[in-house]
Amino acid sequence: MPLDAFREHVLLTPGPTPIHPRALQAMTRPMLGHMDPEVFALNREIQADLRVMYGTEPEGFTALLAGTGSLGMEAGFANLVEAGDEVLVCANGSFGRRMAEMAARYGARVHLVTAPLGEAVRPEDVATQLEMVQDLRMVAVVHGETSTGVLNPVPEIAELVRGTGALLAVDAVTTAGMEPFHMAEWGVDYAYTGAQKCLSAPPGVAPVAISDRALSRYGARHTPTPLWYCDFEGLRDYWTRHTYHHTVPVNLHFAFHAALQAALDEGMETRQRRVQRVGDAILSALTPLGFSPYVRRPQDRLPTVLALRLPDGFDDAGVRQALRVREISVTGGLGPTAGVIWRLGLMGEAARPGPYRTLMAALEDVLG
Ligand code: PLP
Repeated sequence: MPLDAFREHVLLTPGPTPIHPRALQAMTRPMLGHMDPEVFALNREIQADLRVMYGTEPEGFTALLAGTGSLGMEAGFANLVEAGDEVLVCANGSFGRRMAEMAARYGARVHLVTAPLGEAVRPEDVATQLEMVQDLRMVAVVHGETSTGVLNPVPEIAELVRGTGALLAVDAVTTAGMEPFHMAEWGVDYAYTGAQKCLSAPPGVAPVAISDRALSRYGARHTPTPLWYCDFEGLRDYWTRHTYHHTVPVNLHFAFHAALQAALDEGMETRQRRVQRVGDAILSALTPLGFSPYVRRPQDRLPTVLALRLPDGFDDAGVRQALRVREISVTGGLGPTAGVIWRLGLMGEAARPGPYRTLMAALEDVLG
């Protein structure tokens, strides 16, 4: 199919997000080799900028994995968990359950903290498990649960985990890059996201941050990391020692570098305010049409993914198809929330008034 046939599209999904113009331009730079000094210089800047974005300790290790957010998730379990380890996973949605499944595949004995759909994990439930499970090696939590639009209380959970000896792994896919993230201050040991989410870069690289504590845990492994591709030592070979490990997607590094610099130029607090402002405006515009927040408690609402309960009798599939014909993509619920909610993306370049004005005009047209 000729690419010229694709028309410009309004992406209001919870990822991928519209590519930032600076990232789009950076992708068109001529190819360089992954071992070229210019690429190592660019990588060093990416690592420094990621330390700022994640709020690591000054020397915290950061890198890009050559894959999407799920690879970031998998690399954490592959490197930091060994068969038989006790791992506690906060699983109040699809991505928390994905974490639990991955931990189990790497041989962990998985304990779960759950919560009803649309509710955040309760720190007191985490505290109970921390008391019950002996020799816990890791606690894993999704910061922003995209499947339901719930924000889990990571700083509170981190405070409970601190001093227990367990590592804390956080899925920051829908938060880092759009909301302030304080890895060192909170006590997070491993964090990851996907380029195509809050940073509006193309999908294909997963920025990760690894604390010194996590690196020590990795260094004390009894068995080699089963996932060769993302072995932390292999990552350090390339990112720190500049020796070959595998061929990194250089053009995606160009784009990611530009998108991350654009985000830092804007500043995390400004981005956070932008998301809030656009989110509030959409909610005010859609409330008269019968939409209402799916997440009951305002403090549990994830600002970057606005989950809205559909009006009674609303033709979910029909309306989204009518919007799709008008080149507007809106995402419905996932699993049990299919047909019940819409999930409007407010990450990166999606959090702009323009695309949402387009949505409102199209909805008026479709709903009559
Ligand atoms: N974690 C969360 C919270 C997500 O929202 C997603 C994707 O939507 C993932 C992990 C997986 O990321 P990817 O689809 O980039 O592999």
